[in-house]
Amino acid sequence: MALLAGDVLGLDVPQPDHAKRLLALVETDGCFTDGVAVAAHCHVGRRTMRVYDQGKVAATFVDVEAERAIRIRPQLDLRDRVQAYAPDAPDRWQGYVLGYQRMPDDRLLDVESVRLAQPIARLVSTESARAACDACGEEIFNEREQNVDGRPLCIACAGGGYLCR
Ligand SMILES: [Zn+2]
Repeated sequence: MALLAGDVLGLDVPQPDHAKRLLALVETDGCFTDGVAVAAHCHVGRRTMRVYDQGKVAATFVDVEAERAIRIRPQLDLRDRVQAYAPDAPDRWQGYVLGYQRMPDDRLLDVESVRLAQPIARLVSTESARAACDACGEEIFNEREQNVDGRPLCIACAGGGYLCR
């Protein structure tokens, strides 16, 4: 998936060690995400990967310099077709393993040009930015504060976040 993203976006994948041009937005956690991290050299700790856990094996790859984004997902009828690529497999499990290895990318994956819900610069943000939440006082990095009636608030105090308050 990451290699196809590199082909479509015209970028080297995995991206070079200190590059941050390719940003991967993955839609699930778990081993799929680790696979994308290794193949694309995009990592949460390097701020070149974001996990938007929607329980989907899909990812959007963003060229932050060219401001282009593509979303890649497995084709929807893949499970029905994959066995045809491994008629010699001894069982159904081996059929999946061999089939997925043999299927060409254009029979495996759908690629779609997408627009992000927020500007790419905002998504990438300024790494050195710091603010303090006007309600709870906690420090906010990377321009993640929200402006609510002229007050800088953290996402949780602005009514979002993942905790019950
Ligand atoms: Zn707060």
